[in-house]
Amino acid sequence: MTVGTSETGAATAGAARLLPPATEESIRMLLSEGHTDAEIRRRTGVDVRTAARRRKEGGFGPATRRRRPNRKHPKEQQVQALITEGLSNGEVHRRTGADRSAIRRIRQQLGIAYVPPKLPPLEEKWEQRTRPVEGGHLEWLGERAKRSGTPVMRYREKSHSPAGIAFRQRTGRDPVGQVRAECDYPHCVAPAHVDDEPGRQRTREQLRYLTGGAERPARCRHGHDQNEHGRYQPDGTAYCEACRRERKRSRRTADEQPGGPA
Ligand SMILES: [Zn+2]
Ligand SMILES: [Zn+2]
Repeated sequence: MTVGTSETGAATAGAARLLPPATEESIRMLLSEGHTDAEIRRRTGVDVRTAARRRKEGGFGPATRRRRPNRKHPKEQQVQALITEGLSNGEVHRRTGADRSAIRRIRQQLGIAYVPPKLPPLEEKWEQRTRPVEGGHLEWLGERAKRSGTPVMRYREKSHSPAGIAFRQRTGRDPVGQVRAECDYPHCVAPAHVDDEPGRQRTREQLRYLTGGAERPARCRHGHDQNEHGRYQPDGTAYCEACRRERKRSRRTADEQPGGPA
């Protein structure tokens, strides 16, 4: 790229301004790209007055590039890597301490626009309504069911379980049965504390064995298969869900017919 004093230039007296066509072409290109005369000198070897003259003759107007594009920031590579990873300028600044204008310049050179990450709107709404509580619990600040006080969340006219959303965050799958926490914080929605029905039963069963409990019988007193109907209470005590349901039903029937038909 560098152009020495060519024989052509020396031989043609009075026409020292004549440059090799390739150099002229380079100058035109750099001018049209908006480089300064100094930068054109640095890149082609012509002096600044020549560059200024070609600028005027060609009607290129003033330079629009103020910095040398190859000037490197001490943390250039680090900044480039973080921008490529998709971080915002603010976050890159926070992590590297690099100057914000330098970060903007590097982003421009890379040609990578910042696209803010999109939290799924349901999770975002959930997150906005939770607050960390001492002990790793998560308090629900949003709506609650009137009688039970169970957290609920309305989203797009549908009712969602905040505990269920927490469960999905932890496990990446849909829960089976009801999701709730068994920690000592009432209606906790911390992802680490909630579990679905099978998960809860497994934990309770483990507790039963850990506290010296024996394996439950295969069938209850009324002959229900405990693999299907067997459940554990929070302390590991086994009970039969089928029997419990039947007791509940007969109690309700009794309540509904206080005096019997008149
Ligand atoms: Zn908790
Ligand atoms: Zn039973």
